[in-house]
Amino acid sequence: MLFKRSRSLYKEAQKYIPGGVNSPVRAFKSVGGVPVFIKSAKGAYLTDEDGNTYIDYINSWGPMILGHNHSNVVEAVTEQMQNGFSFGTPTELETEIAKLITSSVPNIDKIRMVNSGTEACMSAIRLARGYTSRNKIIKFEGCYHGHSDSFLIKAGSGVATFGNPNSPGVTDGTAIDTLLAKYNDIDSVKSVFEKNRGEIAAIILEPIAGNMGCIPPKGDFLLKLKQLCEDNQSLLIFDEVMTGFRAEMGGAQEFFDIQADIVTFGKIIGGGMPVGAFAAKKEIMDYLSPDGKVYQAGTLSGNPIAMRAGYTTLSILKNDLNIFHRITQTTKILSEELKAIFEKAGIQLCINQCSSMMSVFFGISEVSNYDDASKADHEMFNKYFHFLLNNGIYLPPSGYETWFISDCIKDIEIEKTLDRSKKFISSI
Ligand code: PMP
Repeated sequence: MLFKRSRSLYKEAQKYIPGGVNSPVRAFKSVGGVPVFIKSAKGAYLTDEDGNTYIDYINSWGPMILGHNHSNVVEAVTEQMQNGFSFGTPTELETEIAKLITSSVPNIDKIRMVNSGTEACMSAIRLARGYTSRNKIIKFEGCYHGHSDSFLIKAGSGVATFGNPNSPGVTDGTAIDTLLAKYNDIDSVKSVFEKNRGEIAAIILEPIAGNMGCIPPKGDFLLKLKQLCEDNQSLLIFDEVMTGFRAEMGGAQEFFDIQADIVTFGKIIGGGMPVGAFAAKKEIMDYLSPDGKVYQAGTLSGNPIAMRAGYTTLSILKNDLNIFHRITQTTKILSEELKAIFEKAGIQLCINQCSSMMSVFFGISEVSNYDDASKADHEMFNKYFHFLLNNGIYLPPSGYETWFISDCIKDIEIEKTLDRSKKFISSI
């Protein structure tokens, strides 16, 4: 495969954009090589600037659950554009999407729209702090909640990929209020509570971790977290930026039948436009400005074009609830068959799969927290990544990321992925 135009575009981009990218993991720094510049996408496929096409397992890092450029979404957004791009005033559409989300997700009465997952999580912890009048939060090693200061302490995603878990620029004063625990290790959480009695505002976590690769919660881990929060009058925040409207219509809360106190969203709720949101019961949300004293705002929040893309995407999901089961099945088949192929060839690996998220970890048999994920053979993943890329399959460019399966991935795409994986095995 030729990447001639991508190469020259990357060279040019590096002159004007740090690292040539507007978000670090896109730069292929950990897998090496030149990032592919994408020109267009449709359904399950991406087309790059050199005319190469790829089966897409990133799906814009989650939002494109329906596949790319779904005709209903395109039509709705095109129609909306005729009315103007942004007003900075309330619109009826914002109430419509708020109704749709609050009626689909358990345990939330009100929702506030923002422009990214980072903003959603940053605002959620401010709200939790305001509500509880406490300062400290517990987060898990390897979980990523965006790039706001409080979260850049042993974070996942690009922060894990580049091996600099504690970013320069985050002050000690901020870091001191973020307490760390180990994912899937309830004793590590208990011990943080014991050492900080009456000081914990909230636990924030990805109910299915996706930023240290895909790591599902084990056994009754989530239930025990909820119990600990109740015992300590702390809030439980589910960061559903990845899992919201993916695990189920009601997200991970519905999938695991566990209720959180505050829920954050992003990705799918914007249908590919830059949107985030946070939501909770009325008692908590009423602490937020302008009703309450916890301040939070946004010039472009609730932007009509973004709301229309999100509303249309969520409506399509709501009218076809079987989709969640369907894409979970696809993901299960892909992960089970891949595992069988590698194991048959004597290659040790762990494939974690939960709903329509999955990750491949080479050289290790179980991955249930960040330490395990870092012990995986990332060199081998990088080789696998490039082999597939050169054969028309685009995986997330890091072993610390999750593959997102869209509703456009069908048997033919699965077959090709399995076939190219067999060829990869023969090549090594
Ligand atoms: N939370 C989670 C679970 C995420 O996966 C991400 C982004 N991948 C974020 C928060 C931050 O979202 P954004 O990149 O839109 O700021």
